[in-house]
Amino acid sequence: MTTGTAALLPPGVSEASFSRARQRFAAAVGPENVQVGDALGSYRDPYSFSPAGTFEPSAAVTPASVQEVQAVVAIAHEFGIPLWTVSIGRNDGYGGAAPRVAGSVVLALHRMNRVLEVDDDCGYAVVEPGVRFSDLYDHLRAIGSSLWASVPDLSWGSVMGNTLERGFGYTPHGDHSAVQCGMEVVLADGRVVRTGMGAMTGNNAWALYKGGFGPSFDGLFHQSNLGVVTKIGVWLMPQPEQVAVFMAKAPEERQLGQVVDTLRPLLLDGTIQSNCVVGNALAIASMISERQTWYDGPGPMPDPAVEALTRGLDIGWWNARCAVYGTEDLVAARTKVIGKAFDRVPGLELVTRTYPGDATDADVHPADRAQMGVPSTDLIRMAGWRGGEPAHTDFSLVCPPRGRDVVAQMRLVRARVEEYGFDYAGGFTMFPHHAIALALISFDRSDRQQVDGVAELLPHLVDDAAARGYAPYRSHLAEMDHIAAQYDVNDHALMRLTETIKDALDPAGILSPGKQGIWPAHLRR
Ligand code: ADP
Repeated sequence: MTTGTAALLPPGVSEASFSRARQRFAAAVGPENVQVGDALGSYRDPYSFSPAGTFEPSAAVTPASVQEVQAVVAIAHEFGIPLWTVSIGRNDGYGGAAPRVAGSVVLALHRMNRVLEVDDDCGYAVVEPGVRFSDLYDHLRAIGSSLWASVPDLSWGSVMGNTLERGFGYTPHGDHSAVQCGMEVVLADGRVVRTGMGAMTGNNAWALYKGGFGPSFDGLFHQSNLGVVTKIGVWLMPQPEQVAVFMAKAPEERQLGQVVDTLRPLLLDGTIQSNCVVGNALAIASMISERQTWYDGPGPMPDPAVEALTRGLDIGWWNARCAVYGTEDLVAARTKVIGKAFDRVPGLELVTRTYPGDATDADVHPADRAQMGVPSTDLIRMAGWRGGEPAHTDFSLVCPPRGRDVVAQMRLVRARVEEYGFDYAGGFTMFPHHAIALALISFDRSDRQQVDGVAELLPHLVDDAAARGYAPYRSHLAEMDHIAAQYDVNDHALMRLTETIKDALDPAGILSPGKQGIWPAHLRR
């Protein structure tokens, strides 16, 4: 055990009791797999903007099997210690691996890192929590599978964590929670449940058919504190014969609505098969350049500097990226339809790059990797945009994928972000039926004013959005209660339903208290 005295105790647990609990955790998972004190570095919020200690863990425990997870949950019950479950724990920008309740023990599952099954015929894999996107990619290549997994912007996180948080990637399987099928969960009382067809001994459609026989439960464990998920099935796509990746550059700020309204019908009717990211010039610039190259003043970058930047980097004010997949004929036909649609946007430049499906990583333009299912971590450069100590948080609203909504959200978020002196580096990832707005708020953690600015800005953004009927799809720990409180229809009936389920499954409130604003009865306000 990386022992020493724990700097912090779980709430309501004495030092002596916590010391005994740590001995028990160590006996269950091995002493080297219980961390306290200085060894907790990777379990803190890497980009914290909250007062010191707000989301501080007391320890971390890293089991290597379902049985060890069960043992840890039982010990936590016995001592009344809250656990905070993560897979890899790189939910950076939203709190990383840090717990909502200070003093929680992080239950980190990165040692459970096997790809348990790959089915080339039917296109799926079953993975444990510690399988990163880059691991799945390497595994598929290593076993000679031609299947593609979708990857998010940063592939150092787990397939499990990203999927459960409703994260996304950029191939036709980019909506990660939608392509998840079948799950194994350890409940708070230690029972192990398999959902859907997996509940039947010998059934062979666990990762193929979501339904099973009766109600569907997988959704209960997305953005949830109702169980510890130990396996998921994920659907994979066959390697296409060809891919065309499109980059549409719109030169003017006021063209956002038109770009979005051009894309929506093509997404809705399936012509465009990936989702489509529409990013502004600052979002792109922050991933590939330094801020001071374009502007070194305080406060948000003025428009003339942004215009100079678009010319310097040869990008649009708005930049839409999407892709089509299939046989050469199909790709050519879709390319023609997309080209014709974009012809109608004045001044728009459309760049198309075509790849064979078996292109090697070296053949793929760095900007096209996500559309080709190739893992990358390049995007993290944006955290250093403001210089100093790199940090970022994301504010991500759900939006109808329609020009007028997108423009309204953009104006609202841009105005607030700039009011607090930050650059509006953002955009929208469009799916057929919704878009996710992303404001990437880069800040310098060594600058007190910027850190305090982020802390003040986020609640304002939540309120601004709620006043217009919008809400985030995901959030930093600091805003979970605030966002959950916006779901007020019929006197917060949805939260009452969730609490009823929480009380039935986890009456002692051991699992991730406070996650998504869901609290056990004794901590409810
Ligand atoms: P990543 O693996 O991408 O770094 P995390 O491990 O930080 O992602 O997980 C993101 C969030 O998803 C966690 O804060 C937690 O709420 C939830 N989560 C992750 N893994 C599990 C799991 N195995 N069971 C239940 N919830 C999980």
